Amino acid sequence: MRRKLVAGNWKMHGNHKANAELLDGIHSARPFGCDVAVCVPFPYLSEVAVALAGSDVRWGAQDCSMHEQGAYTGEVSAGMLHEFGCRYVIVGHSERRQYHAESDQLVADKAKAALGKGITPIVCVGETLAQREAGETEAVVKRQLSAVIHTLGHCAGEMVVAYEPVWAIGTGKVATPEQAQTVHAVLRAQLRAATARADQMTLLYGGSVKPDNAAVLFSQPDIDGGLIGGAALKAADFVAICRAA
Ligand code: PGA
Repeated sequence: MRRKLVAGNWKMHGNHKANAELLDGIHSARPFGCDVAVCVPFPYLSEVAVALAGSDVRWGAQDCSMHEQGAYTGEVSAGMLHEFGCRYVIVGHSERRQYHAESDQLVADKAKAALGKGITPIVCVGETLAQREAGETEAVVKRQLSAVIHTLGHCAGEMVVAYEPVWAIGTGKVATPEQAQTVHAVLRAQLRAATARADQMTLLYGGSVKPDNAAVLFSQPDIDGGLIGGAALKAADFVAICRAA
């Protein structure tokens, strides 16, 4: 009943030639039975918008500022992303939380800025290995999501949530379908308490999703697709994951 979404997170990868080949590979594999998006580095947004014009493949960015405009050197606003046709923006990716010290509240403010411009934030939550081993997984993801729910208020039902265990990102150590489903069910329950739209909301799993593990992950009741890093850089792999959704 919920339509699945597969979103590629290119991170800081790409160049003109590689992007063109990758997009061509994705574009020519359509149609897909799910929604498909690519979240690309800022400088490539305009060429991606051209390459995907008229396609049902959507695109987005990997971060945005919480501010609308002003003296914030190096920042990019949601309004600017909107001008480039972005449908999505990833916020609160663990790499941003870790390397840029992004707090739960900053992530929430970014999600709010995105929604204010009609862009769907893909809000990432997830625990580190140490937190999992300490039995803190549930508390950590609930705390991260809670900040966003409170900041978005009645708009909370408009976001996409991505559960990405930090220990699974880029490591090849994928969460088991049961581990992922358990956390997704916790998040869905938390969302139910906050919004009547919880059962229509898209909850993605991310962290070492590959063509050979995607189908079983995506078949879990509360997993509505994936946020794909490494495997989003090869058209054949990304297309195979889209087909698994
Ligand atoms: P990965 O990255 O698929 O390479 O593990 C996922 C992500 O960081 O979004």
